[in-house]
This record gives sequence, C-alpha cells and structure tokens, in this order.
Amino acid sequence: WKNAPENLAVLARIGRSHGDATFLIYEEERVSYEAWFRAVAAFGRHLQSLGVQKGDRVALAMRNLPEWPVAFFAAVTIGAICVPLNAWWTGPELAYGLAHSGAKVLVCDGERLDRVLPHRAELPDLAHVIVSRRDDLPAGVTTLESVIGASSNWGALPDQDLPDVVIAADDDATILYTSGTTGNPKGALGTHRNFVTNIFSSAYGAARQVLRRGEALPDPARKVLLTVIPLFHATACSATMMGAIAAGHTMIFMYKWEPEKAFQIIEREKVNSTGGVPTIAWQLLEHPAREKYDLSSLEAIGYGGAPSAPDLVRKIREVFGALPANGWGMTETTATVTGLSAEDYLNRPTSCGPPVAVAQLKVLDEEGNPLPPGQIGELYANGPMIVKGYWNNPEATAATFIDGWVRTGDLAWIDEEGFCYIADRAKDIVIRGGENIYSSEVENVLYDHPAVMDAAVVGIPHRTLGEEPAAVVHLTPGQSATEVELQDWVRARLAAFKVPVRILFLTETLPRNANGKILKKDLKALFD
Ligand code: ATP
Ligand code: MG
Repeated sequence: WKNAPENLAVLARIGRSHGDATFLIYEEERVSYEAWFRAVAAFGRHLQSLGVQKGDRVALAMRNLPEWPVAFFAAVTIGAICVPLNAWWTGPELAYGLAHSGAKVLVCDGERLDRVLPHRAELPDLAHVIVSRRDDLPAGVTTLESVIGASSNWGALPDQDLPDVVIAADDDATILYTSGTTGNPKGALGTHRNFVTNIFSSAYGAARQVLRRGEALPDPARKVLLTVIPLFHATACSATMMGAIAAGHTMIFMYKWEPEKAFQIIEREKVNSTGGVPTIAWQLLEHPAREKYDLSSLEAIGYGGAPSAPDLVRKIREVFGALPANGWGMTETTATVTGLSAEDYLNRPTSCGPPVAVAQLKVLDEEGNPLPPGQIGELYANGPMIVKGYWNNPEATAATFIDGWVRTGDLAWIDEEGFCYIADRAKDIVIRGGENIYSSEVENVLYDHPAVMDAAVVGIPHRTLGEEPAAVVHLTPGQSATEVELQDWVRARLAAFKVPVRILFLTETLPRNANGKILKKDLKALFD
C-alpha cells in the first residue's frame, strides 16, 4: 500500500477486504462488503459502456438506499465526478443541479425520477437516466436492476476488480452542494485526497482524544451504525459512509426517519452509534416510547452541522450512558474539521472541539488580523480536506478560498487550549445600534429555561437601531412560559440589549432543512 495513491478506488478495495461482513442493512435486505464491491465494479463498467469518462459528471438523486453507495463508488472509481443531489429538492431544484453540474448520467429513485422527467428537455447534457426500484418505466429510462440486479443478487455478480483507471489523489471526485442556508447552494468540488484525509484524520483525532484521557484505544470490533442523515450531505457521505468502509462497520439505512422505528432497529440490530444532527439526538431523548426498548448497545451519539443546546451532552450521557460527540465542519471542508467527545465535551458543552489531526483553524478580525484566544472573529480553516473551490462559480470561489484557507462565514473564538466555539454565522449576527449580538449566546440562555425545547434568535428591522433581536421558541410539550417570563429570564442573565424584543411561540419544532439547520430566513419572515 505504500505507493498506493490516495484515492477512493483504494478505499473501495479496503472495503472489499471486509469480505462477508455486512456493509448495509435496509429493511429486510442485507448486503455484504463483497457483494457491494461486485456491484460497484459491474456498475462502473456499465457507466463506461455508456461513454462516461474521467471528469464526466454522474448525478445521484435518491434516498439512502443500498444503491446509493453502489452508484457513488461506481462513478468515482472510474474517475467520473459524482454529483449527489439533495433528495429533498423539488423538480426545478434538481433540474438546476443537473444543469449546473452538466451531468451526463443521472442515477435516481422513482420519486426523484418523477420530479426530473418534466425538465428533461431543458437538460441537453443529460444523455442517460437510470432509475432504481421502479416497475413502470417511462420512455428513455433504463433500470439499474437490468444492469446489476436487485441487492440480493450482487454477491453473484462476477468476481472482478474495479475497471483499470488511473486516478491521482488531486483528481476531482465529487460536487457536493452546500445546504443553501444562507443563499443558493454552491457546488463544492472535492478531490479524492479530500475524502481520504478526512477519513484518516477523523480516526486519528478520535484516537488522540482517547490517548489524551489516558485510556486504552477502543476495541476495533466492527460497529453497527444507524445512518439516518442523508448521504448527499458531506458528513454522511464522508465521515459516516467512508469511515464505515475503512473500518468495516455495518450501516443501517431507514426508509424514513422515525424515532420509534429507530428504537426498534437499535434493539434488534444492537446498534452502537447513531446521530448526525442535534435534532435527531433530541428526538431520541424526548420520545415517550424510549423506555420500552433495550438501547444498551448504544455507545456513541454524535452530531454536528448545526448549533446544539448546551445541555444536550449531559442528557445523552445521563439517559443513554453513551458517549456524546460533537463536530464542526462544512461542505467545503469535506465534513469534519473539529471534534470532541466524552469528558472533553461534558466539560465544555458549548464547544465543537479542537481541530482534527491535519486541520488548522484561525480567527481573524474584519481587517484580516489574527485575533488572540478568547476573541470572536471570522473562522478560517486549512488542511488537505479543504475542497478546490466551487464548481462553475469563480466569484464565490475567489471570495471563499483564500491562500489555501477557507473563509467559513462563521464567527467563532478559540480558547487557550485550542478548543473552538461557534458564536454565530456572520450572516445571522444581529447588530443592534452597533452592538453585536451573537445568536448562540441568547439561544443558549433560552435553552436553559426548563420549558424551552427549541429556540432561534433572529434580527428584525428597527428604524433607528438597524436591527433588534427577536426569538422564535417551541416549548416542551406539557410546559408553559409566556413572552414576558422568557424575556425576564434572559434579562436576568444577559445584558439588556440582548433581550429579544419579541418572542413568537410555534406549536411545532422550528423549520429545518435536510441537514438539520434552522431556516432563519423563514423565521424572520414571521415577524413581518
Ligand atoms: P450555505 O453555505 O449554502 O449557506 P450551509 O453553510 O448551511 O449552507 P453546510 O456546508 O452544510 O451548508 O453547513 C456548514 C455550516 O454548518 C457551518 O458553516 C456552520 O455554520 C454550521 N455548523 C456545522 N457544524 C456545526 C457545529 N458543530 N456547531 C454549530 N454550527 C455548525
Ligand atoms: Mg456555508
């Protein structure tokens, strides 16, 4: 392996070395590593037979189905660029992703097919559409099953290696779209090296934390991961899926996220780890059916991608006894850049951890000068997991990728020991008459109120002050609190100018996008 290039074909072969171990469980279907690898090798050859060459884009639009990691690895191991599209997108949004990436092939499931087909005439580059799990076939579409069969057949496919394509570490592997929380989604152009370093630096980072605490390294046995976050997002694609392949873990996919179904699966399959975004962890904690199930196999509940309430870490530890973990990253960093768990996290419940092995962080003021520990400024990240730039978007690339660093758009501070704390997004900060109000500071105080289950702070316009803070809150079922009570609660804990001038109560949890991020743009509109 010494001279092996750092590419995803190497990772796929590492995956194959796990042989009969179960790679995937989906409903009644079980797919071994060997069966998955054979499907990848066969489907990759099929893509080549359609004329897909190095650098061509192969789009992927489906729920977390066993076909997802097959189509993904088939594309990237023949040197094509895989473009996972957000499965929540509507027809016009999917058509935008297909047109913007110039995809030649689309691999999708039935629901996405119905959304895309009305737009096909607008997509001259799209030469082939391949659908999975669909009986009635519209014209001009073929099925993935006609090439490699259903998942139960993959183990019987020919015993062959991946197609012979030379792939360098810095060749393009993916276009992953950002969540579109602050504007239109941008296509982050990731390389093979980005993913490979991400996997190994995460593993190294976890080991380093264990060693810091003076414990033995965890037992390397295969783990069972309940993978409920969408694979089209960097965290699930990189940290979860590729991390699983490197280590030989088993991933379980759910047709649809439902906490009680998750409990059943955790009990039946003895799941060791789950999570993804803070909302998932909360839903597991708060669900009344939790006590009916044996969840003692759970060892870790990890999440990131969005701010989390400070008491989440303690509750996970108390209720599940499992190790809570948090990490910060962005699509542009191929997922994880910081991470922390266990005591480090319990002792610093508002941190997202120190950077992983090969990453660096810095905090700059508005003039671009480095800030000392403890001061809030804009966070920049550096390391071999930072993507090349945005596909087909030179302006955003020039504004975001500066001298090898990615300008994150997050406001943060770093303590003396190197632990990072996210204060807000630069675009969400509320500036009231020149005073900065970081939403997370006010949100964390609201979260501490016993009746508050979910909270977000947004800026609302004010004629002379520019903006004022306002909050949207969802109360814990069965609990009550008034606007005045919550304002007094904040006033007793923070400076008066940070007290939300209006608080709206929602009967549902706050609206979030596919990646668990609160849609602050939508919340602001509630105050109009
Ligand atoms: P867009 O860039 O299109 O507006 P987005 O920034 O939400 O969307 P992602 O790349 O999915 O798209 O998300 C990265 C962002 O998520 C980070 O910049 C940060 O604001 C937030 N984030 C990620 N991890 C954490 C965390 N652990 N704590 C707080 N915020 C986090
Ligand atoms: Mg972003």
